[in-house]
Amino acid sequence: MAPSDRHERESEATQIADAVIGWFEREARELPWRGDAGAIDPWAVLVSEFMLQQTQASRVIPQFEAWMTRWPTPSSLAAEAPGEAVRAWGRLGYPRRALWLHRAAVQLATEHGDEVPRDVDTLLALTGIGPYTARAVASFAYAERHPVVDTNTRRVIARLVHGAAAAGAPKASDLDDMAALLPLDPVRARLFNAAAMELGAIVCTARAPLCSACPVAAWCEWRGSGYPENAPTVRRQATFQGSDRQVRGRIMALLRNASEPVASEAALAAAAEGGVRDELQPRRAYDSVVSDGLLIEVDGHVRLP
Ligand code: SF4
Repeated sequence: MAPSDRHERESEATQIADAVIGWFEREARELPWRGDAGAIDPWAVLVSEFMLQQTQASRVIPQFEAWMTRWPTPSSLAAEAPGEAVRAWGRLGYPRRALWLHRAAVQLATEHGDEVPRDVDTLLALTGIGPYTARAVASFAYAERHPVVDTNTRRVIARLVHGAAAAGAPKASDLDDMAALLPLDPVRARLFNAAAMELGAIVCTARAPLCSACPVAAWCEWRGSGYPENAPTVRRQATFQGSDRQVRGRIMALLRNASEPVASEAALAAAAEGGVRDELQPRRAYDSVVSDGLLIEVDGHVRLP
């Protein structure tokens, strides 16, 4: 690439980042885990990232607030039985995240002086933390400069940079694309990571992008080329209705609300309530929550761990 081309591209990336950050500072939703710069609680960031992995922010907010009131530090959570974390997870879904968060809290309390680490490799060694979450915590909690790319960010980049309607399946180059736009200053990089996600969540939405309110409309390749329907094919998410996940959820709801162990037969009956896809489904769901460690079987009964 000629030096003048590189200069032009860097200058455009700076303008895009400035526009997105400026918009974010004016328009971002107030979310309880964001805090003010200088008063960000890394534990709150880590808890929020676990909860947000598969769940929308609006559903996470009440659960997050109750969680942080009850367990304001890793050691306060670590001092309780893992089943309490599963119970408090409520209806957020994918309750293994609660078990993993509890295990991570134990690691933080016993091996890290009750502090959330700031470097990605140490974060990756904690239970339940993959590359996305490690980078998100390092960036949002500590302003370590890393590209953080979620589904919303990938959609913004697909449209803005590549002129594609949707991002398709995650790929290694997603991080390179984000890194090419990321400001050099780590604090602005943190803001840009959050701002790009927010833009995808509330303006550049999957179904109805609000281009008239978009701070990067002038640079958007997809808009500029007339919104071609050129989305890569993505496998559709399996429906929840009738799924094993739904049946597992019925068993977990019964146990969350029980103060005593529940007879296995009663748990299987609860699994079948409301209909099943096949006659083996209740047993399959029951066995899977037990093998995931979400329930413990003792003498024909089950209980939270
Ligand atoms: Fe998304 Fe429209 Fe903004 Fe392009 S102009 S990034 S499609 S909201």
